[in-house]
Amino acid sequence: MPTYSTRCEGCGNAAEVRLSFVNYESVKLGVKSLECSSCQGKVALEFNPGEVNFVMKDGESGGWTSKAGKENAYRARRSKIMAQKTKDHVFKTKLVPNFDGQQTENWREAQEHARATPHVDSEGRAVARDVSTYAPLIKQEQSST
Ligand SMILES: [Zn+2]
Repeated sequence: MPTYSTRCEGCGNAAEVRLSFVNYESVKLGVKSLECSSCQGKVALEFNPGEVNFVMKDGESGGWTSKAGKENAYRARRSKIMAQKTKDHVFKTKLVPNFDGQQTENWREAQEHARATPHVDSEGRAVARDVSTYAPLIKQEQSST
């Protein structure tokens, strides 16, 4: 339990009191009041321990701040790993824009190639290609850039 300096509002008697966080909050909010040991007057807290770095001192199990620090470090590490995993996954499954195996700048370009290059069927007839299959790829491309 942290120690707090107090001063009596009546006689000015200074004292050190040990308070739990719950009790400290109660006193600070005025829900609970401390009594002077010499005049039984109202005792006020001398300082706000929030301004004092007593929480920075680590106990054997590590202080509050060091635990928060460890937690943050763990989260930062984990989000980095997750981001890398996502990146790897996207990279592996990403289809490179192409038309008949010929790499293109983007899917829109691939679609233009497809439109400009008629398909020749088994009987030697030029048939317009169905270029609509490129549409979702173009859409995806546009939304990701
Ligand atoms: Zn007093």
